[in-house]
Amino acid sequence: MNIKQVSIITTVRHNIGDDFVREGILSILSDVAKFDKVELIHKHSPVTTAYGYEGIRRLRVSRVVEPVLRVLGTKDRIADADLLIQSGAPVYWCHSGGPHCADNEWFDPLIRKRFLKDRRGRKFLNIAGGSCQRYHSDGSEVAHCPKCKAYIAEFFDACDLTLLRDSLAQRMLQLAGRDAAVLPCTSIFARDHFKIAPINGGYIVVNFMETGGHYTFGQAIDADKWRKNFVEIVNKLASHGRVVAACHTVTEEKLAKQVVPNVETYIVPDEHVAFMNFYAGARFAVVNRVHAGFMMASLGKPAAVIGNDSRALMIKNLNLTPHYVEDINSGLIDQMIDELLLREQSYQDEIEAIRTTARSAYVEAISKVLLS
Ligand SMILES: [Zn+2]
Repeated sequence: MNIKQVSIITTVRHNIGDDFVREGILSILSDVAKFDKVELIHKHSPVTTAYGYEGIRRLRVSRVVEPVLRVLGTKDRIADADLLIQSGAPVYWCHSGGPHCADNEWFDPLIRKRFLKDRRGRKFLNIAGGSCQRYHSDGSEVAHCPKCKAYIAEFFDACDLTLLRDSLAQRMLQLAGRDAAVLPCTSIFARDHFKIAPINGGYIVVNFMETGGHYTFGQAIDADKWRKNFVEIVNKLASHGRVVAACHTVTEEKLAKQVVPNVETYIVPDEHVAFMNFYAGARFAVVNRVHAGFMMASLGKPAAVIGNDSRALMIKNLNLTPHYVEDINSGLIDQMIDELLLREQSYQDEIEAIRTTARSAYVEAISKVLLS
């Protein structure tokens, strides 16, 4: 089949993890359909759906301008979409006292007020969305939050297909009275979109985020302890080869240098293809960034993900081990490094089997919806 325009709700020049997920979706989609044009909407500033307004990056400004453009009928990417895709990212989160996914910035302006009012039978896919809860959450927060429960069901019902990337997200969806399959995050197919092949590894990758993640969600996390553990990780890894800290942002680079002053860093802000090539030349990784782990793994290089929220758990779908940042200690660091060294040669076969099975499952599910 041929699709004229695919519009994707994603982030733009914001988070290379989101870029990986989106490129992976496009790789799968190209197995199902031909598409002439892909247009991106930066979800944190919904006004970017309108052509010519991509420069508005502030939500406060978007909230003023976007409704005006809607009334004026300014040409936009939602109206022009022949297929609409919500790409990756956490889609379900619910924390007592907030934040709540029901309050997100994009669903109301883009889906309720634009897409659903002018549907014309067009398909809407929610692909590789996940949860973002406390690390040990069982998802029951949703059961006690009527607005998130209602929103999760509404979002699901608006979609022709929902495929989730972690089982906690599935649990949250079930608590909202709906269900969907879980598949490994599509970021593992991004390399196929650019035909990037792994090369023999030259360096071990690490990555550092304060407290091990984007937020703490009120969990008692000892930031200083994690800094000390990270120093120990880098020092221990250094006895096995060259260590490079991958920094997805400038802030992360500053932080890595502050914690381990002599550490070698790699950074090309917002250039996800450069990062893919960088990961393609690595050996294995110990990272806080879940998508650094996913990209490494997709290239056959095993990764340990240390995190503080439920996003880290999705690495389990790649037969890899997540760790809660507070649990890290010397013994666990040794064990983690031993496991990575052990799997350095063998993981390639494991991931290729996972990628093959997952690709078939994605292609089958998407074909079924698009060709019906
Ligand atoms: Zn909630």
